[in-house]
Amino acid sequence: MELACLDLEGVLIPEIWIAFAEKTGIEELKATTRDIPDYDVLMQQRLRILDEHGFGLPQIQEVISELDPLDGAREFLDWLRERFQVVILSDTFYEFAMPLMAKLGYPALLCHKLEVNDQGRITDYLLRQRDPKRQSVRAFQLLNYRVIAAGDSYNDTTMLTQAEAGILFHAPQNVIDEFPQFPAVHTFADLKQKFLESSVIHSA
Ligand SMILES: [Mg+2]
Repeated sequence: MELACLDLEGVLIPEIWIAFAEKTGIEELKATTRDIPDYDVLMQQRLRILDEHGFGLPQIQEVISELDPLDGAREFLDWLRERFQVVILSDTFYEFAMPLMAKLGYPALLCHKLEVNDQGRITDYLLRQRDPKRQSVRAFQLLNYRVIAAGDSYNDTTMLTQAEAGILFHAPQNVIDEFPQFPAVHTFADLKQKFLESSVIHSA
C-alpha cells in the first residue's frame, strides 16, 4: 500500500502568514523561521502583533478566506487522490487552514491547533508533537504504508528523508543545493510524473 504525504503551504496554498501580511499591510508579519529561527519566539511575536492590531480569529479567518489555492493545486490534488491515499502534513494551524481546505475539498490534514478564548482572541497555540511531519511518516510506515512525500522547504526535509521517496516541489535554490539527494521539480505536471516514477503500484 502506498500513501502520498504533501506539505501544504508553498505546495498547494500560498504561505499563509505572508499572504495575510500582504492583505492586511502588516509588514512585521512577514518574518519567518528564516528571520527568527526559534519557532516559539516567532509565534509569540506573531500573536502579539495580531493582538496589537486587534485581529482575533474571526477577522483572521475572514482575510484568509479571500486567499486561493495555488494555480492548478486543486486539479493536482484531485489527480493524486485518485491514485493514492493522500494526507497533508503541515506546520500551520487548523483554524487558519480551514477556509483554504474548503477550496481543496477537505483532504485529510494533520497540523497544529490554536487556543482561542470566547472573544475570539488567540491566547496560545498547541504544537501536536515535535518533528511532526517525520513522526507522521514513521507512523504510516508502521501501518505498512510505503510513503512518497513532497514539500518545499527545510521543515519538510526530515519528512522527505523518512519517506521511501522524497520530492522537492517549488523549493528555493538553497534548499535544492543543500539536499541534492531529492529530485526537485517546479510544475504540477512534473510533480505528477515524479509521483508515478516513485510509485511501485503505478507506472510512469
Ligand atoms: Mg511549505
